[in-house]
Amino acid sequence: MKRPHWAEAGRHTLAAIGVLPLASTAAGATIPDPSTGVHLSITGVDAGEATCPSCAARSGNAAFVAVVEDLRLLFACPSCLQVTWLSGA
Ligand SMILES: [Zn+2]
Repeated sequence: MKRPHWAEAGRHTLAAIGVLPLASTAAGATIPDPSTGVHLSITGVDAGEATCPSCAARSGNAAFVAVVEDLRLLFACPSCLQVTWLSGA
């Protein structure tokens, strides 16, 4: 059984924003959809360097969240503390 990938830095960013308790594990974790508030099932969290589409700040700790319900990624910015949809690169 393949375990979903959860990057530690990404998890910390999500916890800082408040969308995810720091102690949460991959199993059953959800994140609210920034536009509808509907909870989406997280399949993986990654962290990396990216420029925020919302505040344009560049961060090495940006979190990318993959969810079951949507093919796009959620982008969590540690600078402006916003979660936005990434409309595909
Ligand atoms: Zn931002």
